[in-house]
Amino acid sequence: MHHPSHDPECIFCRIVAGEIPSKKVHEDEHLLAFHDIHPWAPVHFLMIPKAHIPSMAHLGAEHAGLMGHLMTLAPQLAQAQGCNPYPDGGFRMVINTGAEGGQEVHHLHVHVMGGPRPWSKG
Ligand code: 5GP
Ligand code: ZN
Repeated sequence: MHHPSHDPECIFCRIVAGEIPSKKVHEDEHLLAFHDIHPWAPVHFLMIPKAHIPSMAHLGAEHAGLMGHLMTLAPQLAQAQGCNPYPDGGFRMVINTGAEGGQEVHHLHVHVMGGPRPWSKG
């Protein structure tokens, strides 16, 4: 699939394009969600915009709708993936940004983690 802001060097753009396989959790016109390849928690998936936005530091007002869609969808996906209900269950969302923020893949992604503890990390 061609996307106007596809970066052929980017691993997550290659997942969006179907060039690298992923275990999909959700897909719509603007977003893709898939399981993290190295999960830290019983539930651990990533939510990404299909467009190549490198990080949170690249967001502008034009992305408010996209990010609002992502944030409001996350709880539904978390529940569908097996996170237990709030308040005894719940989930954690993490967005690493830049080197000091611990970002390794430079295509904006939101980690959504949950399930019974202990977790291997986080
Ligand atoms: P970051 O440190 O950038 O926030 O996290 C990147 C995440 O992407 C890591 O948790 C890593 O396991 C995950 N990841 C990296 N490459 C792949 C991949 O090819 N497929 C999947 N499903 N996850 C990946
Ligand atoms: Zn990308």
